[in-house]
Amino acid sequence: MSEIKSPTTRIETSAAKVYEAVRAAQQAGETVGLVPTMGALHQGHLSLVDASLAECDRTVVSIFVNPTQFAPGEDLENYPRPLDRDLELLMQRGCWLVFAPPVEEVFREGHETSVHVGSVALPWEGESRPDHFGGVATVVLKLFQIVPADRAYFGQKDYQQSLVIRQMVADLNVPVEIRVCPIVRESDGLAMSSRNAYLSPEERRQASGLWQALKLAETLVAEGETSVAAITEKMKPVLQHVEVEYIAVLREGTVCEVETITEAAVVAIAARVGKTRLIDNLKIQSRKK
Ligand code: AMP
Repeated sequence: MSEIKSPTTRIETSAAKVYEAVRAAQQAGETVGLVPTMGALHQGHLSLVDASLAECDRTVVSIFVNPTQFAPGEDLENYPRPLDRDLELLMQRGCWLVFAPPVEEVFREGHETSVHVGSVALPWEGESRPDHFGGVATVVLKLFQIVPADRAYFGQKDYQQSLVIRQMVADLNVPVEIRVCPIVRESDGLAMSSRNAYLSPEERRQASGLWQALKLAETLVAEGETSVAAITEKMKPVLQHVEVEYIAVLREGTVCEVETITEAAVVAIAARVGKTRLIDNLKIQSRKK
């Protein structure tokens, strides 16, 4: 990897110019990492940027609130867009290029093509938000075309999304290496999320129940409990102040539920706290390896 880091951050809204810059860097022998985001950056996003900075010569961050992954009635209009602050953070970090296009640059008039990912996109988040993963997969594939990066960085926070992206990349022969980075949390364990800004102080306290429930599951498994039914029963009282959409215990790397934890599993939760929908998950190692 080259030692030379760009002293300035380039900000681009043009897809063609970004493509040209990325290809030029690669032709000069540099590796390029892409961190796709919707902005309103927090330490979770910045941990992905740091992973890319550590592994790649050049780091591109995209900031694009993708309308096609929001259902009618979701928070597309209200989604936070503190662009100047985001740019400042990325400049401080030493990010090479920020792609922050207007919607029309990504979805030109007459756009009609979309990516449909199969069974991995159907349950859990897919059930609650039926068109969500189609919108995510389509925009991520488009970003991979605009930024033909060597590696792309995603968060474990969106566990099912990372599986959807891996599936798409494998199925459509996209020449990019996918990296999935650990969840960054607040001091009380709440997973960082741009949507945490919606929470009132009371809701913010209630939201920490998600982490407490996940930790409880981990403790129970560490103590030898293997029954998923018993574990989820014990998690419910911890989640009494939030409206649980699902608690799922999945075989790691899949969206398939398990009944007993005999191998590595992911416990995933989706819940509403007031009007805000939160998701979180935790990898759990079975004692029987
Ligand atoms: P978003 O801006 O919400 O679309 O997120 C952009 C990327 O950041 C996705 O790959 C997310 O999984 C990742 N991400 C979001 N929150 C966190 C977090 N708390 N820790 C690690 N990665 C995160």
